[in-house]
Amino acid sequence: MNTIEKFNNNVMHTYGRYPLVMEKGKDRKCVDENGKKYIDFGSGIGTNSLGYCNDKWVDYVCNQVKSLQHTSNYYYTKVQADFAEMLCSSTGYSKVFFGNSGAEANECAIKIARKYSFDKYGKGRHNIITLVNSFHGRTLCTLSATGQDVFHNYFFPFVEGFINVKANDIDDLKSKIDNTVCAVMLEYVQGEGGVNALEQDFVDAVFDICGKNDILVIADEVQTGIGRTGKLLAGEHFGKKADITTLAKGLAGGVPVGACLAGEKCSDVLVAGTHGSTFGGNPLACAGGLAVLETVTADGFLDDVNKKAELFRSELLKMNGVEAVSGLGLMIGITLKNKKAGDVVKSALDRGLLLLTAKDKVRLLPPLTIQYDEIKEGLKIFNAVLEA
Ligand SMILES: *Cc1c(COP(=O)(O)O)cnc(C)c1O
Repeated sequence: MNTIEKFNNNVMHTYGRYPLVMEKGKDRKCVDENGKKYIDFGSGIGTNSLGYCNDKWVDYVCNQVKSLQHTSNYYYTKVQADFAEMLCSSTGYSKVFFGNSGAEANECAIKIARKYSFDKYGKGRHNIITLVNSFHGRTLCTLSATGQDVFHNYFFPFVEGFINVKANDIDDLKSKIDNTVCAVMLEYVQGEGGVNALEQDFVDAVFDICGKNDILVIADEVQTGIGRTGKLLAGEHFGKKADITTLAKGLAGGVPVGACLAGEKCSDVLVAGTHGSTFGGNPLACAGGLAVLETVTADGFLDDVNKKAELFRSELLKMNGVEAVSGLGLMIGITLKNKKAGDVVKSALDRGLLLLTAKDKVRLLPPLTIQYDEIKEGLKIFNAVLEA
């Protein structure tokens, strides 16, 4: 039986998959089971932020595998301490809680917001405002938080206490803020929702209203965080630091991790017994995370990310088949003129280029380490697909 048959006989069919069996990768290229090579503009949905099997990352993870793969959170590990210290100091947050995914990071943020409010004001101030078209995860609670009706089916009843506001609609925001609200949760650039950046005025209004009413701002930077948009955190583009920031995808270079960062105001809300995770802060994830953070915070790295992003954007805008380009940094949404995003992704795959979609756009989340010649090589294939 071949791999795809074996897979489909045994793994639940929860994903639409392409008929590609990926075998190995190095840097920005991967190889399928037939030896065919691909340039990767998707990096495993932004997780392989340093590409495949980056040398430093491999060293850090392998050295950790050989000394200690896991221990329970009843004990301390140096690698978790080192990673946490670097994460807090480089982002300016006070404390972190580690989970294993974006959804878990967001669950933690939601629990902090509700308990912060409960501790201070008692019951009844539990509502959380999220934005229409947002995406916050697949657990029941984060699905409930997600502002897209297509996700609110089958699994009734959903978790109560989420109110949706239209992105960039300040009047809608104002009309839904009252004394039952404990937090506003947002993505600075909506990823799954179609690579749409929020407007500065709207972000200003959120922080202003929340600041005046002791409502916490939660920034879901699961996709935008750790260099993806050309800043360590996307909030820097808007001159904002949320009370809580969640991270996951690119944080540990492809090992599962989630992090919920809390500022001073709410860093001590979760006390012993109120939250936990068996695997959270796993040494392998922390070692991978250290390799990513050391790389991304090195002098000049993010300047280079921004230059690469400019090259992507200027080259894309020259293409006849491209209508518009959205997003920030190396989080790129492409509106096509004549072709469907899904068809383009399929033809690109045939020609050795991996792409993503987001709603009706083609989405690019290339490894942050991508080289200029690889950008040109990949974009040449992309243009050929559009012209075909
Ligand atoms: C991917 C994503 C999540 C969910 O992360 P998982 O690791 O799949 O749980 C949450 N929020 C945003 C913004 C994301 O892009």
